[in-house]
Amino acid sequence: MTVRVVLPLPLDQAFTYLVPEDLAGEAQVGSRVLVPFGPRRLTGLIVERTDEADALSDYFRLKPILDVLDAAPAFTGELIRLTQWIANYYVCGWGEAVKAALPSGVDIAEKHHIRRTEAPAVFWEDHPDVGPMLRYLDHHTEATLGGLRQQGIDVPLVLLRRLESDGLITIVKALKKPKVRIKYEKHLRFAPAFRNTGAVKDLTKQLRGLKQVAVVEALAGFALEGHPEPRKADVLERAQAATTTTNRLVEKGILEVIEKEVIRAPVYTFAAEPQAPFRAFHRAQRAALDQIHAALDARRFETFLLHGVTGSGKTEVYIAALKKVLARGQTGIILVPEIALTPQTVQRFRRHFGDKIAVLHSRMSLGERYDAWRHLRSGRYSVVIGPRSAVLAPLSNVGLIVVDEEHEPSYKQFDPSPRYHARDVAVMRARMNGAVCVLGSATPSLESFRNARTGKYTLLEMPERVPVPGHAAAPLPDIEIVDLTLERKKHRLHGALSETLREAIEQRLMRGEQVILLQNRRGYAPVIECQECGFVPVCFDCSVTMTYHKPRRRLRCHYCGRTQRMLAACPKCDSKDLSQLGAGTQRVEEELERHFPGAAIARMDLDTTGRKNAHHKILDRFGRGDADILIGTQMVAKGLDFSRVTLVGVISADVGMQLPDFRAEERTFQLLTQVAGRAGRAELRGEVMLQTRNPKHPVFRYILAHDYDGFAQVMMDERNAFDYPPFGRIVGVEFRGPEEELVDQMARRWTKLLTERVPGVVQVLGPEPAFVGRVKKQYRYHTIIKAPKTFTGLQDILRAVIKKFGNTPRGYHVAVDVDAIGLF
Ligand code: ADP
Ligand code: ZN
Ligand code: ZN
Repeated sequence: MTVRVVLPLPLDQAFTYLVPEDLAGEAQVGSRVLVPFGPRRLTGLIVERTDEADALSDYFRLKPILDVLDAAPAFTGELIRLTQWIANYYVCGWGEAVKAALPSGVDIAEKHHIRRTEAPAVFWEDHPDVGPMLRYLDHHTEATLGGLRQQGIDVPLVLLRRLESDGLITIVKALKKPKVRIKYEKHLRFAPAFRNTGAVKDLTKQLRGLKQVAVVEALAGFALEGHPEPRKADVLERAQAATTTTNRLVEKGILEVIEKEVIRAPVYTFAAEPQAPFRAFHRAQRAALDQIHAALDARRFETFLLHGVTGSGKTEVYIAALKKVLARGQTGIILVPEIALTPQTVQRFRRHFGDKIAVLHSRMSLGERYDAWRHLRSGRYSVVIGPRSAVLAPLSNVGLIVVDEEHEPSYKQFDPSPRYHARDVAVMRARMNGAVCVLGSATPSLESFRNARTGKYTLLEMPERVPVPGHAAAPLPDIEIVDLTLERKKHRLHGALSETLREAIEQRLMRGEQVILLQNRRGYAPVIECQECGFVPVCFDCSVTMTYHKPRRRLRCHYCGRTQRMLAACPKCDSKDLSQLGAGTQRVEEELERHFPGAAIARMDLDTTGRKNAHHKILDRFGRGDADILIGTQMVAKGLDFSRVTLVGVISADVGMQLPDFRAEERTFQLLTQVAGRAGRAELRGEVMLQTRNPKHPVFRYILAHDYDGFAQVMMDERNAFDYPPFGRIVGVEFRGPEEELVDQMARRWTKLLTERVPGVVQVLGPEPAFVGRVKKQYRYHTIIKAPKTFTGLQDILRAVIKKFGNTPRGYHVAVDVDAIGLF
């Protein structure tokens, strides 16, 4: 028999290996295997078994797999197909896509620690490999496979597992490099002869040591309570005894120690506001659910675009659909843009799905991740909630995939490859499973908007907020523009806050209400400039200005993290006249402290949320009412639901609009609509103020009118005219390396190979230096490819170019980014 094995290498597909007879049972599709590859041994994944009788020549040509690493396959057939699709569509190695679906750590071979049990070796003693191993183990507490090999003993895992099931040895698995280990805890139980109450009574009379009696009684107590195998630590605590006592009892053959696996799951608490009493779904929710349920009942693949304004009750729709899916024994995936920022949403899912739900997020330890992954695979969890990588979770029988805030750019991965878009993978995965996919947003991406228009997705609309009992529907907040140029003329603007906004804040503080302020720039001042000669400090390694951070008086590069002390004088002309231009969150916070000395202010940006759970603490504090004003970067725009927030202010609505990205306006519309949605979510009416120097910009007209459809239509016409997505496909190719000259050459040669191969309908723009021309000592060039949606051969051409181009020199990189976003 032979198998096809995928290895973690860029652009190579599957390789064929022979399966030795003794591994034939274990070498299943989805099993990870150890294979020889050149001089190395690599971990790969079996993606196919080719069971037909093979040509004899294969046996001479092919190499055999060395071992099977999993007792049960790590991958399902479905994930194998999904990763293959990702590799094809996003032009990367299949093994790279496989790697993205494995928790970090397990791509490296597991290490097995082997211990001998008491069981007699019987007929194994004469086995040429097993015999020496058992004898070796009899004299050592444990051994690893590597350690055994050094002794000249080589027993394949498959055989080890057989010995384990025969009870001769125990195998404890750990991972080789990143130290992920399954965690075990010691538990105690009575030896078989003492597992009845009579025997325990006799024991307590016979035993002389008081501590020993206490342990026996404690253990008997646990057994009576229905826990015959409690944790050793619990027994010791109840008996007020120490390990020496239990050791004595084990030696006497009265107790047994067993090891049980512990599941590490991060503790997740968040003091949520009490929920408004939930009566029944309102009409639009009911209508949306009816359609989703119909698709679920028919067990047909269908993608819904749930376009619901902020606070319209989308999350409740997800929860109801998920309940239905679980009730019939299927599983579900919930994607959220950034889990640390949406503790309230996670909390709501937790409340409904309890220990059936695994939460994945970027701050988890390797061990926590590994455990979550294994138990998603084993079926102990039936729901996963997490950021983009959760779309690759190893759940079987997926019935529903939800992508909340589907327009969020964080769903697209850039580094490392695969550069996939989790929303699009979600739709594909739902399709492969005949499942339902729900994409939710108050401001859908134009891609999804168009798919809904053309009938590829089913549009569900919830245009109103959830009505508050006793009130008419909680209306969307009033949005007004504060024209900064005008304010300045009227001498009503001295720092970052206009007097208009300040007065509005003051009102809220007097009424005991809360305020959220958005300034999408962290630090104190984004630019330092010498007033004499115009010098501006720029990072040594990146072509961006250094941002001044006041707390430690340092300049910091936001691209590479390099810092230096704030300049006392201009290094060029020695002038001390350095001005601090622009305002980051720190400066706004300082201004607020000056104007509102009695107010409690919380700041949330990358600098205040570095530590684990920092987000929670800040939001918790704000939620309890211990802070009056929350100022932050776009972090404050996401999914927060605080009923006392009646004012949202945007310090500069123009940040982001200047970026040379065709999606800049779309992003601005999304961000401002989203942050506006934080205001007036309950009985109290909300107000939103957008400060801008550009009040005439058309994007504001639509934001003010809460007119998503109108905005989308204008954008669509523009995109259509220039063949931009969603009408055309965009592929970005990034060239990086330490010498600009060579990067330029590399970019031109690569682009030439491409131009030679593409038909006339495909436009190739560039190569050109990127907008941020240098990052972390690496020069960056871009080529942008625009192709009609109907042209399907692009990926094959890209693969041909990559192949023809061959290896890049050391330190130089080419990154192909299909459906690129953020091109600058
Ligand atoms: P979205 O996800 O669209 O922003 P949510 O699902 O968070 O909206 O709903 C907003 C608020 O309204 C939440 O506090 C939620 O518990 C509540 N809510 C949702 N649906 C209903 C309903 N039918 N009746 C009462 N309250 C509801
Ligand atoms: Zn100067
Ligand atoms: Zn830098």
